[in-house]
Amino acid sequence: MFSEFYSVLLVAGEALLRLVPITIALGIVFAALTHWSACNPGGPWWRKRAIVTDVCYWFVIPLGARFVRIGLMVMGAALLFDIHGAEALIKFYDDGFGPLSALPLWAQALTFLVASDFLLYWIHRGFHGSKLWKYHAVHHSSEELDWISAARFHPVNLFLGSIAVDVALLLAGISPNAMVWAGPFTTAHSAFVHANLNWALGPFKYVLASPVFHRWHHTALERGGSSNFAGTFPIWDMLFGTFYMPKNELPDSYGIDDKLFPESFGAQMLYPFRQ
Ligand SMILES: [Zn+2]
Ligand SMILES: [Zn+2]
Repeated sequence: MFSEFYSVLLVAGEALLRLVPITIALGIVFAALTHWSACNPGGPWWRKRAIVTDVCYWFVIPLGARFVRIGLMVMGAALLFDIHGAEALIKFYDDGFGPLSALPLWAQALTFLVASDFLLYWIHRGFHGSKLWKYHAVHHSSEELDWISAARFHPVNLFLGSIAVDVALLLAGISPNAMVWAGPFTTAHSAFVHANLNWALGPFKYVLASPVFHRWHHTALERGGSSNFAGTFPIWDMLFGTFYMPKNELPDSYGIDDKLFPESFGAQMLYPFRQ
């Protein structure tokens, strides 16, 4: 029992250590870019009022997500395919299975990105509905929106969102090796769309979500907040009528209506259960 606990700690420690250089690199890149192309005035990201809360999310959430994802993968393989035991599981997931795993790795990564983005578009719209909003409100509570706000998700939001979708696509046969490519792209792109940048990407605004595209999503309902639900590909918003990028205008205020929304990480974890 002790050795298992120790190995979990070790894996967690290694994952955290890997995240530190990535975090520093993103911090430097976005500080420099914001210096030249800020969307909204204000100090650098590390002067944000809620920086401690955001740093907690940034390190705790990916770690927790990793363990839950593995747990779900083990359960899914057991329940759906009757596969048990570490060796059998590793063999089962190793290269994927079925027709999807026959595709080259780049095509699997692309399939993963497109399929997960489509599913997450609809899940995201669901989270804006009255029943699930209290879980998603945490993500929208950032008033000084910046790249480090990207990880601000309540675990329930994450569990019913990207974790469930990742596991569903792995259980559909996509090789985890495809996610080795898609994962870092999603992390960097998600930090990018939350960054305080006035980049709308010109004609590519219809191809890839930009900071201006996603920052509109974080504005109040009457300012455009009920739009731009896509994480990566704005085409879903164009197809389903929720695309919003007014010309010659930039989003300028963020946050939610609940003025009593707590600021600390711990209180935000409990927030949905107190509603
Ligand atoms: Zn949202
Ligand atoms: Zn966001």
